[in-house]
Amino acid sequence: MADLPTPLFDCPRLSKELDGPRILIKREDQTGIAFGGNKIREFEYSLAPAVEGNYDILLHGAASQSNQSRVTAAVAARLGKKAVMVGQRDDHSEPITGNLLLSHIFGADIYLTDNPGEKIEIINRLRKEGHRVYNTSTDGYLLRSIAYVDGFLELSKQLQDQDIHPAALYVCSGVHTHVGLVIGARALGIPVEVIGIKPMPRENEESSRELACVAKKVALMLDLSLQINPADFECHGNYAGEAYGTVTERGRDAVLLMARTEGLLLDPVYTGKAFGAMIEHIRQKRWTKDQTVVFVHTGGTPALFAYGDEILSPKTEVNCD
Ligand SMILES: *Cc1c(COP(=O)(O)O)cnc(C)c1O
Repeated sequence: MADLPTPLFDCPRLSKELDGPRILIKREDQTGIAFGGNKIREFEYSLAPAVEGNYDILLHGAASQSNQSRVTAAVAARLGKKAVMVGQRDDHSEPITGNLLLSHIFGADIYLTDNPGEKIEIINRLRKEGHRVYNTSTDGYLLRSIAYVDGFLELSKQLQDQDIHPAALYVCSGVHTHVGLVIGARALGIPVEVIGIKPMPRENEESSRELACVAKKVALMLDLSLQINPADFECHGNYAGEAYGTVTERGRDAVLLMARTEGLLLDPVYTGKAFGAMIEHIRQKRWTKDQTVVFVHTGGTPALFAYGDEILSPKTEVNCD
């Protein structure tokens, strides 16, 4: 399904603008199908059990602008399966645009609801009707991280071919992309710091523990004997804003800076926040001009269309003087 290897993109104007390290972007937004993103690479592995097990429905449910719902709908079409989306009725479900529009175009059955219990009810009803329902969030869970061990191998070969040795990778990740990259780096013995930025507010130590736990299971599945500790996972839960899906000023500035220096699109929910964190670390001089950092662009750009107002005209303060 995925169009691999994805390009590695140099950003000289951005480096100059930030007066910082060399910046490379691993274009996981260019994985091919349906505007790409990291979920296409994850699905290469995690949907194998759905294909082998003859599941007829791929189900996903999250925020109305979920990238994973959009990719689930597109990939279901490609595999000749039905997609069902049980999404939330939220601030970005109307008008129908962005990812939600695309899910409609890909022919998903879409339910938008305020009731979190409705997903289970719908799954139970579909099963009773005789369908085999594969939940793309929870089924094949560890395989999604394994896909990014593969992603690391691909990136590492591209870097090696150009004799580049980055000091750090930055990625927006809840679990899988971050876990996969760390396991890949550890397995190859490559000393690169992998820095994960959360799309939702989380306590950093708790995130590190959670990811280390998933990573141990992934290493076991791959037959790798690695000593994995929470300290292997640098997680930042404080760039997400008040809640998942809210636009932050830092994230918005990052989207605009990337677009205006390199002609490249980020998104307001995931990659803008991670890139905002990277800009802050560069401004704090964590990385010097003779170093290289790689930003892993996980996709998400269709959400831009649902967040247009917040990106172009942020809430301005009223000055009464
Ligand atoms: C889903 C998503 C992520 C997080 O993916 P993980 O599987 O948790 O690593 C990051 N960025 C974008 C654009 C996404 O859609």
